[in-house]
Amino acid sequence: MEATRDRAAWLKGGSAQCNIPAEEREAPWRLVLLGAPGVGKGTQAELISERLGCCHLSTGDVFRAAKTLDECERSPALNQALDCMRKGELVSDETVLSMVKERTKCLRCGGGFLLDGFPRTVAQAEALDELLESEGLALDAVLSYEMPIEQIVERLSGRRTCSECKAVYHVVGRPSKVAGVCDHCGGELIQREDDRPESVKVRMETYERSTMPLIDYFKARGLLLPVSALGTVEEIYSRTAGALAARRAE
Ligand code: AMP
Repeated sequence: MEATRDRAAWLKGGSAQCNIPAEEREAPWRLVLLGAPGVGKGTQAELISERLGCCHLSTGDVFRAAKTLDECERSPALNQALDCMRKGELVSDETVLSMVKERTKCLRCGGGFLLDGFPRTVAQAEALDELLESEGLALDAVLSYEMPIEQIVERLSGRRTCSECKAVYHVVGRPSKVAGVCDHCGGELIQREDDRPESVKVRMETYERSTMPLIDYFKARGLLLPVSALGTVEEIYSRTAGALAARRAE
């Protein structure tokens, strides 16, 4: 399946277009990814997107892309969102939802989608349900990546992200071929501001308080597919693909 790396419409919003054909693919996947920061969700999202053809839509990436705008080009709501992000706190549901609603065409895309980092609260999950229903769409599954907390902290401290294309690496677990340089686009690899120790602590607490309840929410709707996030990237992907194949076979 052809890779769907073009996320212009998602990252920029507004009238930006991507190069994914709009026609419906056969059985496109419409997925949500859940998991604490650092479980390797972003890496799995890239693989799923490449191999199953659905677009990787990360709300965190939209906020990070907005950081590159001049301060005067950003709305007050966006500046406030970036401030929350720096501290590792959640951006308000209102801001996140208006940003997602502006990008509804990405949910409608015939290639399917893979939501990463959204929904993050039960209120966001309810709003997503409404949005999809109004478009005549439904989720196929919610993949929930699970890992013990000590390993999560170790992962976050070694995580590096491409400043250009947002590809994710780890200094030990998934190094780039040339240290500090992205394999895909040659961009500089950086440590995200919110991967610093003081932000990581807040993010883990926030995850437990706001995002864990989503597991029950999606379980009650029969959508939850728990996946162990231990092992190599390929092992985790193979569990993911197996869980999705079993879901389609049901
Ligand atoms: P992520 O890359 O998904 O870990 O997101 C990075 C940061 O962006 C989070 O720590 C939040 O500050 C903000 N953010 C991203 N998505 C959401 C969301 N759905 N709800 C609230 N805040 C979000």
